[in-house]
Amino acid sequence: MSGYRHILLGVDLSAESRQVVDRAVALRNASGAELSVIHVIEPLSFAYGGDIPMDFSGIQEEIHKQAKSHMASLCDPLNIPESHRRLVVGRPETEIHHIAEEIGADLIVVGSHGRHGLSLLMGSTANGVLHGARCDVLAVRVQDDS
Ligand code: AMP
Repeated sequence: MSGYRHILLGVDLSAESRQVVDRAVALRNASGAELSVIHVIEPLSFAYGGDIPMDFSGIQEEIHKQAKSHMASLCDPLNIPESHRRLVVGRPETEIHHIAEEIGADLIVVGSHGRHGLSLLMGSTANGVLHGARCDVLAVRVQDDS
């Protein structure tokens, strides 16, 4: 009934991801759409820029390994094949838009919560994804566990 053909789900791999994943999977099951999952690894150099003259490559590699293993624990039980898992490096909003276009997604699903400030109903990533998306965006309200 939803009419969506390919859903792209953005996950930050936190415990809260579960609520967002469950909603995307329910949509997939109801519509028969394909489901792809993306996790974007932000380079440490984005956070530290040139301020710290350090080689982050070893840590970055470890982060990548951990993320790959988290993606597998998330996707394996949901029968999401390797071909539908994307682990990319960059800024989440930018990469989510980029991959959504590459795979021809017609719906992007992300989580949103209010912990970034009273004036914001959405978290910063959800907000960024919504602005500039060329397809529908579903922001799933995430309840903080705390
Ligand atoms: P935030 O605004 O950072 O609290 O994140 C809200 C939602 O954006 C998360 O629930 C995910 O759906 C998505 N998201 C955040 N960070 C990432 C990431 N690194 N890779 C993919 N999706 C993300």
